[in-house]
Amino acid sequence: MFRLSQYMRELVHPTPLTAPRKPSGPVVIWNLIRRCNLTCKHCYTTSADIHFPGELSTSEIYQVMDDLKAFKVPVLILSGGEPLLHPDIFAISQRAKDMGFYVALSSNGTLITPDNIEQIAAINYQYIGVSLDGMRDAHDKFRQKIGSFDASLAGIRLCRQHGIKAGIRFTLTQDNASDFPAMLQLMDDEDIDKFYLSHLNYGGRGNKNRKDDAEFLLTRRVMDALFEKALAWEQQGLHREVVTGNNDADAVYFLHWVKRHFPERAEHIQAKLEQWGGNASGVNVANIDNLGNVHPDTFWWHYNLGNVKQRAFSEIWQDVSDPLMAGLKASPRPLKGRCASCDYQAICNGNTRTRAQQMTGDFWAEDPGCYLEDEEINPVVLNVPLI
Ligand code: SF4
Repeated sequence: MFRLSQYMRELVHPTPLTAPRKPSGPVVIWNLIRRCNLTCKHCYTTSADIHFPGELSTSEIYQVMDDLKAFKVPVLILSGGEPLLHPDIFAISQRAKDMGFYVALSSNGTLITPDNIEQIAAINYQYIGVSLDGMRDAHDKFRQKIGSFDASLAGIRLCRQHGIKAGIRFTLTQDNASDFPAMLQLMDDEDIDKFYLSHLNYGGRGNKNRKDDAEFLLTRRVMDALFEKALAWEQQGLHREVVTGNNDADAVYFLHWVKRHFPERAEHIQAKLEQWGGNASGVNVANIDNLGNVHPDTFWWHYNLGNVKQRAFSEIWQDVSDPLMAGLKASPRPLKGRCASCDYQAICNGNTRTRAQQMTGDFWAEDPGCYLEDEEINPVVLNVPLI
């Protein structure tokens, strides 16, 4: 996850480069339940409004939680399906809070209502993220349910009214990109705390067509608009959080934007971005699915590292006999193709390995979702000025 607003803040109010703080353990995104009241087109869990057998019981969830705490996991992001459909969601959340985790909820927002908002507020979640896939028409079409946009927005408003930090998660596609400016306007109109732009796990069509690839051109346009908006919010002192996910090349694209618009800050931003270090799947980001299977992140559901019913998460996570985990944890990662020769590996860390694996069968092949031109990844070799 690329925390854009953090680096925008560095442009406006630079802070000294200090020794990096190593996280005590990975952030765990935990799909507690697969059941969902919606059937969204891009859902990575292909959920439905039915019970899925074999899910962790609440007592098993508590056992895993104890292990996560002992392993110094700092953050739990409780997700689904729709986590509010879990019959024990409030007991689980309260226990996690009492144990000292930072606890966030990832919801579709439609089940946040006047009937349960007091209970939700009482948990004191650090953050509630609600997925919106565009404005009313686009969202309802995506979610395949009329009225779901209004219900989700009502959920966000209830959170805001009860002092809960809430934000929008927007997954960019060709179909909803035209709503992107309206989504940013919605952030202003509703005074929403956080905007998360998630790239679709799109592979592109390889290096040859990169310049003409409609998806890549669209991504670049959207990122340019996001940079401008994030800068404006920062300059207005609004401090809205803006993050992007599922394409760590965003950070490199941002660095080139800084070189063009704030050349005097480029060196500072580059140093800060290198300190962050790019993709952290399998290192600082982990996923546990509803059945207890552990994955390097939420896009690796087709690849199991082990199951917490049979083996403690802490053991699974540290086991580098698995070739994927060994490579993800290696520094540098054993990357190939244009990722191997990229000048900005220290910032991007090879981006999303699941995309490489799904397109080529090789974990370490170049990421086909990298939307940067060759001269943007090897400016010196190609002797092309970027400004
Ligand atoms: S070439 Fe690979 S490492 Fe470089 S920016 Fe693109 S995805 Fe990241």
